[in-house]
Amino acid sequence: MKPFTYIKASNKEKALQSFSTTSHYLAGGTNLVDLMKENVEQPDQIIDVSTLNYNIITKNDKAGLTLGAMVSNADTANNKDVRQKYPLLSMAMLSAATAQIRNMATNGGNLLQRTRCPYFFDIAMPCNKRVPGSGCGALNGMNATHAIFGYSDKCIATNPSDMCVALAAIGATVEVQKIDGTSRMINFKDFHRLPQNEPEFDTTLSKGELITAIHLDASAFSEHYYYLKIRERSSYAFALISVAAGFQISNGVMSKVGLAMGGVAHQPWKLLKAEEFLIGKQPNQSNFEAAAELALKDAKPFEANKYKVDMGKKAIVRALTQAYERKA
Ligand SMILES: Cc1cc2nc3c(=O)[nH]c(=O)nc-3n(C[C@H](O)[C@H](O)[C@H](O)COP(=O)(O)OP(=O)(O)OC[C@H]3O[C@@H](n4cnc5c(N)ncnc54)[C@H](O)[C@@H]3O)c2cc1C
Ligand code: SF4
Repeated sequence: MKPFTYIKASNKEKALQSFSTTSHYLAGGTNLVDLMKENVEQPDQIIDVSTLNYNIITKNDKAGLTLGAMVSNADTANNKDVRQKYPLLSMAMLSAATAQIRNMATNGGNLLQRTRCPYFFDIAMPCNKRVPGSGCGALNGMNATHAIFGYSDKCIATNPSDMCVALAAIGATVEVQKIDGTSRMINFKDFHRLPQNEPEFDTTLSKGELITAIHLDASAFSEHYYYLKIRERSSYAFALISVAAGFQISNGVMSKVGLAMGGVAHQPWKLLKAEEFLIGKQPNQSNFEAAAELALKDAKPFEANKYKVDMGKKAIVRALTQAYERKA
């Protein structure tokens, strides 16, 4: 690991003022420190923001909740209001990693965790995300776990977060402090980006911007919800495919629908066409199957990850069915 200096930020001003182009914020460290040990990330300076006071969960003026960026994934998933109003989020978060990691990992860090593409982690291999211009090892290599939507010839990696798939289905806004001390709000759908020609950038954050909060839209899916995660083993594994599904039923038809997939793109993949299709329809098998067909219609898999198309359709139908049958 490359030597670095360590600063513990006592407040937001100190964190922002200390930031330079070779700095990294440190929260739970569950992703950043692993990457530093592998020399994938080589910051000169670490600014520890884990004890800043963005560490509570409060009610917000959109009739939703605001999650502090430094609240741990475990405390968020187990929070009484989150469990009651956003059980879909809680379920997705509890499917991630292990209890130990969820105790350390923070909400801000979860949004910024890097891809699990094996070439990204191996500094002997080409990877445009790690070293822009070096090539993409996965494009003609081992790509069974890679994207089927929205990739480019520069990068075909997927976003690994479970939390973010649920946030895409529910709707949220990310609050960040800019380096000049002012703040801005980013709609969650615009937070992560597709790789295009610059896969080194996972999000639309500018250098040095500090995430302070995630504002959740008013709760809509506290009754009919399900997070389905398909993975190679039941713990310590990232999603091959995941689906976050939630809906409301009024007069026998679905009146509001949130549907997103993980493991299929460089960003949490919102299934807008399927959502639109389901609104006003009865929650039944044939409508769920038609929505799944629509959702996967434009998938462009590689030879090794063709399985994701069929698996994705089945996962959508199963998640919607479970959401329908489930009673909170
Ligand atoms: C073995 C293992 C299994 C895992 N399995 C899963 C899984 O199944 N599903 C899943 O979703 N995740 C999984 N994870 C990933 C885990 O959820 C992330 O590592 C964690 O959420 C990152 O949070 P952190 O606070 O530790 O971030 P850190 O490692 O501290 O930081 C991550 C990145 O975010 C930046 N950052 C952190 N906080 C802020 C902030 N407030 N503002 C701006 N930048 C910030 C850091 O500079 C760094 O670049 C797994 C991790 C491990 C090690
Ligand atoms: S898919 Fe992306 S992260 Fe993986 S090797 Fe290619 S450029 Fe790197």
